[in-house]
Amino acid sequence: MSNRISRRGLIGVVGASTALAAAKAPAIATPDADKVGFAVVGLGKLSLGQIIPGLKVAKGAKLAAVVSGHPDKARRVAAENGLPADAVYGYDDYDRMAKDPRIQVVYIVLPNALHADHTIRAFKAGKHVLCEKPMATSVGDAEAMIAAAKAAKRRLMIAYRCHYEPLNLDIMRRLRDGSLGKTRLVNTTMGRQADLAEPSDAWRLDGLMSGGGALADMGIYGVNAARYLLNEEPVSVRAWAQTDRTDPRFKTTEDLIDWQFRFPSGVIANGSTSFNYAPTMGYEVICERGRLVADPAAFYGGNRLTVVQGGQAQPPLSLPPNDQFAREMDWMADVVRGKAPMVSPGEEGLQDMKLMKAILDSVARDGATIATDWGYRRAYDPAVVVDLPRSA
Ligand code: NAD
Repeated sequence: MSNRISRRGLIGVVGASTALAAAKAPAIATPDADKVGFAVVGLGKLSLGQIIPGLKVAKGAKLAAVVSGHPDKARRVAAENGLPADAVYGYDDYDRMAKDPRIQVVYIVLPNALHADHTIRAFKAGKHVLCEKPMATSVGDAEAMIAAAKAAKRRLMIAYRCHYEPLNLDIMRRLRDGSLGKTRLVNTTMGRQADLAEPSDAWRLDGLMSGGGALADMGIYGVNAARYLLNEEPVSVRAWAQTDRTDPRFKTTEDLIDWQFRFPSGVIANGSTSFNYAPTMGYEVICERGRLVADPAAFYGGNRLTVVQGGQAQPPLSLPPNDQFAREMDWMADVVRGKAPMVSPGEEGLQDMKLMKAILDSVARDGATIATDWGYRRAYDPAVVVDLPRSA
């Protein structure tokens, strides 16, 4: 795959050659004792369904502790995963982690409004942090998390699993090599039906806990995808919302939001999100001589690409099953060991926080154009530094 990366794709990538050398080192499983220990904070759906199982198959990361407000559940999960009793933490004794050398990385998997506080506490305990998306519920909190990482001289990574997902990497590389001509248009659609009766949706529908409903939960995948697909940053955005305030789900958040980013290259990226439309996590990229349709693009598995060229759709491409969460946590483990560059740092999460705020500002002003060219540039292009596939 790497021979399809154009020279243009490498330009502007800080330290790309060093990073490439490190990133392309063969993925060899580390002996268990040498794996980087992760404490998983919050034992909800994602932790139990994806993250703890991912740590079981990770090559360089392992589960070292669990943190939960439910002691019985925490003890059960610890026992099921072979952890000793003293590797179970509550939120009240969280700071005890400072004295626990088994834990190097704290993985924050809590409702969004709790990310900042628990991230900052983990830095104060001297740990590195991997934090779920969206990194926070406000730009100010996101900035405070980045400042706390710097003060503690520890690493902050945001869990953008698509940066490490083979099909998304393949699509980025196809776009970088320009074989379909210039990219003209990106369309991202990210949403589903939310259910107020489901506890893990109840907080997502709460403006204060989620920081923005469907946009913060699902739309963020489209905001981030437009940026990693194009490897550039939007200069402006316009957005509109359509929200039925009689629907009990939408008392404090918007429902359907549609936005339009303009990029310096001239590409336009349309995005939409909703908690009241049929489930979708897909995107389409239209180039001068072809179209890339990824549908689904961001599921945990089964992502599929259809390349349409000359009016003909080629047979859909799926890559061998892989555990995206294990790949992401192995990447963090390699960052901590100094063996891989930081691809999705706090600054990457902050950029999405600022763009989502700009989208909501535009919504509040009925589609007014909001300038977004505040100078952020990603340090590493995933298409250049993340090998494909590391786990094969
Ligand atoms: P969830 O509701 O299933 O789990 C949240 C956990 O936090 C629960 O165990 C709950 O008990 C605990 N919690 C602690 N304090 C709480 C409080 N005050 N209110 C509510 N819950 C509290 O949520 P989830 O789906 O596991 O999502 C957790 C995080 O992971 C979110 O930030 C979400 O955006 C992110 N996420 C990411 C992905 C991904 O693909 N990267 C997928 C799903 C969720």
